[in-house]
Formats: sequence, structure tokens, C-alpha cells
Amino acid sequence: MTEERVSGWNLDHTYTQLPKMFFDLQQPVPVNAPEIVVLNDRLAASLGLDAEALKEDVKVFAGNEVPDGTFPLAQAYAGHQFGNFTMLGDGRAVLIGEHLTPKGELVDIQLKGAGRTKYSRGGDGRAALGPMLREYIMSEAMHGLGIPTTRSLTVTSTGDAIIREKKLQGAILTRVAASHIRVGTFQYAAQWGELEDLRQLADYAINRHYPAIKQDENPYHSLLKEVIKRQTALITKWQLVGFIHGVMNTDNMTISGETIDYGPCAFMDTYHPETVFSSIDHQGRYAYMNQPYICGWNLARFAEALIPLLHMDEKKAIQIAQDEISHFSTLYQQQWYEGMRAKLGLFQEEEEDKTLIDHLLGLMQKHAADYTNTFRALTHDKIKEEMWFQLDEFQQWYKRWQDRLERQGQSKEAVYELMKKSNPAVIPRNHRVEEALDAAVDNGDYHVMERLLAVLQNPFAHNQEQEEYYLPPSPTAEPYQTYCGT
Ligand code: AMP
Ligand code: MG
Repeated sequence: MTEERVSGWNLDHTYTQLPKMFFDLQQPVPVNAPEIVVLNDRLAASLGLDAEALKEDVKVFAGNEVPDGTFPLAQAYAGHQFGNFTMLGDGRAVLIGEHLTPKGELVDIQLKGAGRTKYSRGGDGRAALGPMLREYIMSEAMHGLGIPTTRSLTVTSTGDAIIREKKLQGAILTRVAASHIRVGTFQYAAQWGELEDLRQLADYAINRHYPAIKQDENPYHSLLKEVIKRQTALITKWQLVGFIHGVMNTDNMTISGETIDYGPCAFMDTYHPETVFSSIDHQGRYAYMNQPYICGWNLARFAEALIPLLHMDEKKAIQIAQDEISHFSTLYQQQWYEGMRAKLGLFQEEEEDKTLIDHLLGLMQKHAADYTNTFRALTHDKIKEEMWFQLDEFQQWYKRWQDRLERQGQSKEAVYELMKKSNPAVIPRNHRVEEALDAAVDNGDYHVMERLLAVLQNPFAHNQEQEEYYLPPSPTAEPYQTYCGT
């Protein structure tokens, strides 16, 4: 007799306790011939799920069957898309439930690409295999880099074709998130709800993400402060590794502080502050250098939505919101230079650091240096590695940096350790990601992707296995372009 394995789902549905305006009960729409093509064993284990048993749960991951006692739903939200405010909502995602992990954390289990919902507008509610595998790779790479992010548990091909510019294979991604509450969810409540709806949403978010502030004198003011803190920390981490999100609309910014929505994102190879990959971002609104500014802009929209809860007197409420938002830029600058100091092996702050760091970035831009490889080469003191390191202007900077290192009185080993853990040896380079996707989507060969994922699991290992992933794309390669909502 074989013992039946249990998946270990422990699903709750706390979101249904919110006022009805925040969701619409929605069963996923069944698909024809589902097959799990990727399953994240490590994530499953950390969630207290049995990976072997999950392989038998293909019907659940396809949305053909839902676990007993669940109330699947699509969430309502609004958002500023490229600056324009609009009603949105889950147009192709269904929340199956919230799973309680062995650590006692509640995480959303959401199927992305699960069919049409009340919020689909003209869309088909579906997703294509390539983009779902891309989200899997990028989100797992971000996790490997130690950056808060939604995760990917499975990608399931549906066996159904979907129509884009051409016919593509359909797929569903199982997204795992601390929650899917967005700045846009608060904007939606503020715009179309009563004060009580907004309050219930805020209480729910506090309960779920910031329970420590519940007893504060004004928990809503604390919520604003905490979200600013987490989002600042998040954006700083993006900037330090050269991650470009690509579509920082307010609906793509979480209250939990996790990176969400892996549509047009990509990592920068050559350092240039104006780098943009998204095919639709013609104005460069979401360019690399603009991300901190946009983060501040989005946080201001969050503060605006919270105003009715910040103080009974509207004038005072506006003042509180403005004061908090006005700290953002200083907070970000501090964290960015702190992160940059660590990348250069500097332990304490000195007044000159800002110019030392800006000087290096200026040279990197001028010489079209590879962002990741520059810091990796500096970590290992391989100053023969890059051509432009031989130039006088770099040598002058290098001397200045060496003097600065000398002055701080730390051992060479300590400096090396700090740099090693602050500078990833590998990132999901665009040409490598594309290569993995081509093999999987065109030939059903998932080995290339598996190898890439293995290397990206610990980008700070700086080991031999990673070496072949260092190479930037060839200089003749076409500029890389990414796409939204595919
Ligand atoms: P995104 O660009 O992924 O942030 O999506 C923006 C909005 O479009 C969200 O409301 C999505 O749910 C919706 N959306 C994206 N793709 C589709 C689709 N294929 N069908 C229905 N809605 C979609
Ligand atoms: Mg989105």
C-alpha cells in the first residue's frame, strides 16, 4: 500500500472579511490540458508544502479545481498608469486563498492567467508561457539577491493557445505574495469608498503587515511612515543592483514592500542613468535614474489616499502627509550612499564619500562600463580586467579609493567580505534570460532555465560555476526591449 502524500495546504480567506467593494468572488476558468512545467521545490519546502504531492495538484495550479473550503476571488484596485488615474483590478488573476506557513506567516496564493474576471475590460484573462517563465526567473533572481519580492511557485502550461500578435502557448503562474494590497488599492478605497471602507482596508493592512503599530497613538500615521520606510529600502536595493522595474504605476507598488509585477523589468548591463527597456516607455518616465523619484511620487499618492485617516482636521492631515513625504528624498539619498559605500568596502561615513562615489559612476557612464562587472572586478581587485581601468582618469580615482580604504583601518579580508556580499557576481542578464526562454518555449527544453536559476540562487557566491554568466551581451546585439501585460 502506498501512503498518500498530502500537499500541506493550510488556506484561509481573510480578504473576504473586507467590505464587498474590495473583491469579486471568482472561480478560475478551467483550461484544457494543463501540465506543470516548473515547480519551485525550495519555495514549496519553506511554505511547508510537499513538492512531490504538489506535482499531483496540477488541477489546482491550472484552476480546474480549487481546494475545499476556499473562496477564490479577484481583487479590485485602481492606479496611476504612467500618471493617469484609472480603475483596474485583477483582470487575469484569481486569489485562491491565503496559506499559513510553518513560520506563522500568511501568504497569498494567486493564479495569474486564470481567465477573465469582472475587471478584465477588453482582455482575455490569460497569460503566455514565455512571460510567465520570465516572471519566474526574474522574481526568483530577485529573491536570490536578497530583495523583497513576490515569489513564483509553479508555471503550468494550459494546453490552450492564446492570441497576441500571433498564437502563443498559454500558461498560469502561481504567485506567492505577502499580500497583493497595493497603493492602488488605497487609491480605489479613497476614490470610491466611504471613510469606513478605507479604515477597514488600512486596519487589514496593518494587521497583516505591520502588527507592531496597532497600539500606536495614530496607527494610520504609523502605517504611512512604515510604508515609506519599506518602499525606500526596496527602491534602494533595486538601484544598487541595477534593476529597472519598467512599470512603476501605483497599482504595481505593494504596501508590504515587496517587488511586484514582472512585466517589462530588466537588469542594466552597461551603466547609464537613462536606461529604459520598456517598449512603451517613450518618455523614460520609469528610466533607471527616475525610479527613486517615481517611488516618492507614488508614496505621495499613498499619503493622499490616507488623508481622511490621518487627522480629523483636513488641514492637519495634509500637513502630516506632506511632512512624511518630504523626508523621502533625504532618506533615499542616505540609504543609497550607505549601500554604495558597502559596494566599495567602506565601513563608515566620510564627508568626501559622495564625491568619490559620484566620480566613479561618472567614469562608468563615460566609458560605458558594465555595471555589475565593474563592482565585481573592484571586489576582486582585478584592475587588469577592464580596458578602461587602465586609463589615467580611472587610476586617479582608484588611488583616491585606495587611500580612503587605507584610512579606515580595516583589514583587507574585512573589506573583501563586505564587498563580496554587497556586489553580486551574477544577475539575470537579458541575453541569458532570453536564451533560457527560447529553449523552454520553442523546444520544451527546461535545462537552460534550470541552470540559470541554480546560478542565480546565490549571486554572491562568486564561484567558478558562475563565470560563464559574467559576460555582457555582445556589443553588436540589438538594444533589449521588454513588454507590458503580455
Ligand atoms: P499590468 O500591466 O500587469 O500591471 O496590468 C494592468 C492591468 O491590466 C491589470 O488590471 C491587469 O489585471 C490587466 N491585464 C493585463 N493583462 C490582461 C489580460 N490578458 N486580460 C485581462 N486583464 C489583463
Ligand atoms: Mg500590475
